Amino acid sequence: MRRIYMDHTAGMPVDERVLEAMMPYFTQKIGNVSSAHFFGNEARRAIDEARSKVAELIGAEKKEEIVFTSGGTESNNLAIKGVANRNKDKGNHIITSSIEHMSVVNTCKHLGKHGFKITSLPVDKYGIVDIEALKKEITDKTILVSTMYANGEIGTIEPIKEIGEIAHSKGAFLHVDAVAAAGQVPIDVQDENIDLLSLSSNDMYGPRGIGALYKKTGTRILPIIHGGGQERGLRSGTENLSGIVGMGKAAEIAKANMAAEAERLSRLRDKFIKGVVDKIPESYLNGHPTKRLPSNVNVRFSYIEGESLILSLDMEGVACSSGSACTSKTLEPSHVLLAIGLAHEDAHGSLLFTLGRQNTEEDIKYVLGLLPSIVKRLRAISPLTPKELVT
Ligand code: PMP
Repeated sequence: MRRIYMDHTAGMPVDERVLEAMMPYFTQKIGNVSSAHFFGNEARRAIDEARSKVAELIGAEKKEEIVFTSGGTESNNLAIKGVANRNKDKGNHIITSSIEHMSVVNTCKHLGKHGFKITSLPVDKYGIVDIEALKKEITDKTILVSTMYANGEIGTIEPIKEIGEIAHSKGAFLHVDAVAAAGQVPIDVQDENIDLLSLSSNDMYGPRGIGALYKKTGTRILPIIHGGGQERGLRSGTENLSGIVGMGKAAEIAKANMAAEAERLSRLRDKFIKGVVDKIPESYLNGHPTKRLPSNVNVRFSYIEGESLILSLDMEGVACSSGSACTSKTLEPSHVLLAIGLAHEDAHGSLLFTLGRQNTEEDIKYVLGLLPSIVKRLRAISPLTPKELVT
C-alpha cells in the first residue's frame, strides 16, 4: 500500500546526512567535553562547531549564546522559569498568548500557582497575537513576554519584532518558542528583538531528545537543572554529544536549503489548500492565508469529526492529525482552534497536514483525489449534515 506521511509536526525523519555525521560519536569519538585528553578535545571541538551552526541558523551574535537542552519542552521551561526566578526584584508579571504550546501553557500555569501573575493575550481569527492588548496589559512589573514564532497547529507566523519592541519598552525580556518555525522560515534574533529562543532538533530533521535555548548575552536567567555546571552553568548534565552534533548538522542543512524548500513547500501547500476548498463544499482554511508556515495545511469540514477523517485517511495510507500530538490523547478540542474563535464542533472537524522534504506534488494529488469522497461518505452518516449536502 502506498503510504504518505503528512504529520511532520508530530515527528520528522532524521536526515541521512545528519545520521552520518552523528555515527562516529556513538562508537569512536566518545570523549567527554570535561576531559583533558585527546578525546575530550575532540568532543569540545565537535560541540563548538555544532553550537556555531545553530547560532548561524538564527542570526545569534555569538555561539556562546546557545545552550543545548533535551528539546523544546525543556528550552521553554528553562526560558520561562529561568527569567521568573532570576527577575523577582523587577516584578512578577508574565505575558503569554492563548495559542502557545502546552510546554509554555503549563509552565506559566505552574508559575501562576507560585506567586506570578500570568496574562494570556487573545489572538484574532487568524491566530495573530493582539498587539493592542499587549500594549494595554504590559506594565513596569512585567518581566517576560513569551509568544511563539509560528504556531505549529494553524501555521500562523507572529509579528515578533513588534512584540519585542513593546516588551523592551517596559524592560521585559522576550522569549520566543520557535520550535515549529526554525528551519522553515528565516529567523534573526538580533533584528527581531529576541532575548530567548527555543529550538528542537527533531523539528528540523535532527534526532529526538536534543534542543537548544538561545540566550542573548545579558539576559538574566537561573538554571532549572543543577549539577556539574555544564553549558555555562545553565544546563547541568553530561552533554548529549551525538545529539548535539546531529542538531548542528540539521541546522546547517536547514539554513542551506531553506529558501528553495520554503518556496517548494509553499507551492504544494497552496495547491493543497485551494484543492480542498474548491472541491469540498463547506470546507475552510484554519489560520492565516499568507503569514503561514510553508509546511502547514489546516482545514476544517463542517458536520464531521476530524478523528473519523484521520482513520479513513489512514486506511488509504495517508497519515495526518487533528492537531498537536501533545493534546491528541485527550478528547478536548484544541485550545488553539478555540482561541481563534471556532465553535467546539468546528474545532473537532479540523484536520492538520504538515508537509515535509519527502512530500511531492503526486502526494498532494493523491490526497486531493481521496478527500472529497471520504468527506462525502462521513457527512452522509452524520446527523448534523443538512440534506442538500448529502444528495
Ligand atoms: N513548542 C512547539 C511549538 C512544538 O511544536 C513542540 C513539539 N514539537 C514543542 C514546543 C515541544 O518540543 P519537544 O517535543 O522537543 O519537547
